[in-house]
Amino acid sequence: MELSRKGRNSIVIEKDGQIGGLAKTLRIKNGDDEYLTDIGPHRFFSKNQYLYDFIEDLLHEEWRLVPRQTRQFIDGKFYDYPVKAMQTFKNIGFWKSLRIMIDYVRARTAYGLFKKPMETFEDYVVANFGRTLAEFSMINYSEKIWGIPAAQIHPDWARQRISGLNLWSVFAKAIGLGGKKGPKSLVDQFYYPQFGTGRIYEEIGKHLVDEGNEIHVASEPVAVRHDGKRITEVDVKDKDGNVRTYRPDHLVESVPLTRFLHLLDPPPPPEVLEAAGGLKWRAQVYLFLTLEKETVTPDNWIYFPNKDIPFGRTSEMKNFSKDMCPPGKTSFFVEFFAFEEEPIYSMSKEEVFDLVMPYFEEWGYFTRDEVSSVHLIKRPCVYPVYDLEYDVRLGKVRDWLDGIENLIYVGRPGRFRYTNQDHSLEMGILASRMILEGRKYDLDTIGSENEYFEKGPIYEKRI
Ligand SMILES: Cc1cc2nc3c(=O)[nH]c(=O)nc-3n(C[C@H](O)[C@H](O)[C@H](O)COP(=O)(O)OP(=O)(O)OC[C@H]3O[C@@H](n4cnc5c(N)ncnc54)[C@H](O)[C@@H]3O)c2cc1C
Repeated sequence: MELSRKGRNSIVIEKDGQIGGLAKTLRIKNGDDEYLTDIGPHRFFSKNQYLYDFIEDLLHEEWRLVPRQTRQFIDGKFYDYPVKAMQTFKNIGFWKSLRIMIDYVRARTAYGLFKKPMETFEDYVVANFGRTLAEFSMINYSEKIWGIPAAQIHPDWARQRISGLNLWSVFAKAIGLGGKKGPKSLVDQFYYPQFGTGRIYEEIGKHLVDEGNEIHVASEPVAVRHDGKRITEVDVKDKDGNVRTYRPDHLVESVPLTRFLHLLDPPPPPEVLEAAGGLKWRAQVYLFLTLEKETVTPDNWIYFPNKDIPFGRTSEMKNFSKDMCPPGKTSFFVEFFAFEEEPIYSMSKEEVFDLVMPYFEEWGYFTRDEVSSVHLIKRPCVYPVYDLEYDVRLGKVRDWLDGIENLIYVGRPGRFRYTNQDHSLEMGILASRMILEGRKYDLDTIGSENEYFEKGPIYEKRI
């Protein structure tokens, strides 16, 4: 859209049958009923007013502020998130609360006073919360997401994800201090489109086509030729298997980085492929259930850090917008984190359904009879794994790719970077400026400064 507004045409090639990537909204039919679901819960948050204005211009009254209600389920008990002081104290009990405080003082002494280095994610969260609290939720949940021990997770993950959070900021919020500002994770309202987050991208798509640009879904590049300095040709296979060759001025691409390298002709040098070979992705499996029931819980989403529970998060789309399902009914979304080689990634929907139902029946959420349809969705390359080597490996790959002048690799999969929607949108905007202005911007400044990525106010709508 940014290019189109300036009179420059583009062609979008999308492998999936629908645009929007991980932030698309799926329409699921069940008889006469239609249910809408995002791929996992998507709240919109940004420090960038331009993005709020941009989306409001696309969606108008569909762009709505939603109160946040989220909880964690730990050791058989629910905890509101952001935490509430009295509830947490009551659930945890006096002795554990005391241990949390003592551990926190110990950690601050070690990491603050004696400057113990923070070399891993584990160091970072222990330094900011003390070991007892870190293990209670963050370490378990992160290990569930990444599938590796917290001591092998790069501290970049903590810097991006929970920067600005520490025992004090959580406590201040819990006792009602802090207001709207403060760490992103603690913000208690967010914007959400009436008919799902994917509406943002559907509208962008409509604008593009209306303005004479092309979008080809169910199509993918099969070869990307270059001369070492420039991308020269891209062969694209469409849904019928026909291959067409394009000679673009610029290629902006978001194919998972490790896969993109294998499309290049000639291939990158062996040391670049070797470096990329050690970059890993975490995949996700999602079970979507439509229910003959008014509601399950009041939550947008619930985290499940305990490892004896196989899924990591559940969400109820109706609590984002009542228009996500037919009146009087609801739906439930269950997320699993996995490597593609893990058994859950090859299970059938019946097997995954049988795996989760005992939990929901035990908690009184819903019975099998109340489930009217079951849908299994799988996605590879969802989370770039920030292990302790990732930054060195990524650096080698980027150094080489950056030598190709008219290539701009963007987004979560393209840059092997844990971005949210706002960061991916900003990368797209910067990519268009690079093309229009004929200069380079450092796309990694987006979301890299702790301040920028994690903190900031919720902007109000323009008047
Ligand atoms: C469970 C979950 C919850 C999330 N929650 C939030 C949230 O609350 N708030 C938030 O802001 N963000 C959230 N996100 C993140 C958000 O979805 C992503 O940041 C955003 O979608 C990334 O956009 P992208 O364009 O960078 O990458 P993607 O969404 O991955 O898009 C990449 C696109 O490239 C296409 N592609 C890949 N390979 C090829 C190929 N070979 N040929 C052609 N096309 C190809 C893909 O099909 C896809 O359409 C969440 C993500 C997940 C998975």
